[in-house]
Amino acid sequence: MNRKIAFVGLGNMGGPMAANLVKAGYAVTGFDPSPAACEQAVEKGVVLAGSAAEAAAGAEAVITMLPTGDHVLDVYLGRRGGAPLLEAVPTGALLIDCSTIAVQDARTAAGHAVEAGHRAIDAPVSGGVVGAAAGTLTFMVGADEADIDEARTILEPMAGRVVHCGGVGAGQAAKICNNMILGISMIAVSEAFVLGERLGLTHEALFDVASTASGQCWALTTNCPVPGPVPASPANRDYAPGFASPLMAKDLALAMKAADATLTDVRVGRLATDLYRDFAVGSGRTRDFSAIIEQVRQEPF
Ligand code: NAD
Repeated sequence: MNRKIAFVGLGNMGGPMAANLVKAGYAVTGFDPSPAACEQAVEKGVVLAGSAAEAAAGAEAVITMLPTGDHVLDVYLGRRGGAPLLEAVPTGALLIDCSTIAVQDARTAAGHAVEAGHRAIDAPVSGGVVGAAAGTLTFMVGADEADIDEARTILEPMAGRVVHCGGVGAGQAAKICNNMILGISMIAVSEAFVLGERLGLTHEALFDVASTASGQCWALTTNCPVPGPVPASPANRDYAPGFASPLMAKDLALAMKAADATLTDVRVGRLATDLYRDFAVGSGRTRDFSAIIEQVRQEPF
């Protein structure tokens, strides 16, 4: 008999991730309140349940891929009605939360799971919808040593890499620290290109120098914010995401929450957060985060 995994949240990321588990031979029972998400998941072999708790009944592991920490806690505890998932899942099950949520929410959710007799880990991802479909996501895992081998086995069909970052919460910590580097570096690269433009420098010339010099970074060499130097970057297709600006704004907000909680001076990160927060509700709403370069071009003195 196939091993049963429950999958809660079958959206842009969760849908293709669940499909890869089906492909690997797991019996995947899923739940999502969105009919469109459910329809696509069923086409990929996911068996639908009527609620998160129903999906979790009899499962050896539960994966959640939800928008926020509140959603994860709602589902675990049944806070918005319905049976709590933590009461429905067999005792000792492994709860794997792959959503990007606050470090503190991850620890709170895991605490509730352990209290209910289960094991819980955080395993946020990078790689986007392309990586989710291809099964090449990077998982950043916060887990007890005792749970990591089992987690690796379950995550493997969806993963390019699984990095054990430390105890519970460490996966979320790694995710927001990495994305704070990314958010800041994309603005730095954008400012450099705009300054170069005004100094008469071609995009190609700046790219040729910086991509092989000390300005080298992923924001420049893979997701270059100007069209031309990196043909696959979103700038070449009118900034179709890629990694949409609202997701960058969300991750930076989580980083600022963590910085506040730990009294960490992240003033450049805070500035990047403010820029992305405004951009994500304006012209960046549906565009890749590298489109921030257009905002930089418009900034008044
Ligand atoms: P999404 O909005 O496409 O999917 C979330 C799904 O959760 C939706 O289908 C929604 O109906 C469902 N949902 C909401 N409440 C629910 C509930 N109570 N029970 C079950 N399902 C419920 O979002 P997404 O892009 O798949 O992102 C999911 C998570 O992954 C987020 O935390 C996001 O930050 C993170 N993430 C996204 C990307 C990306 O490129 N999209 C990359 C890395 C990480």
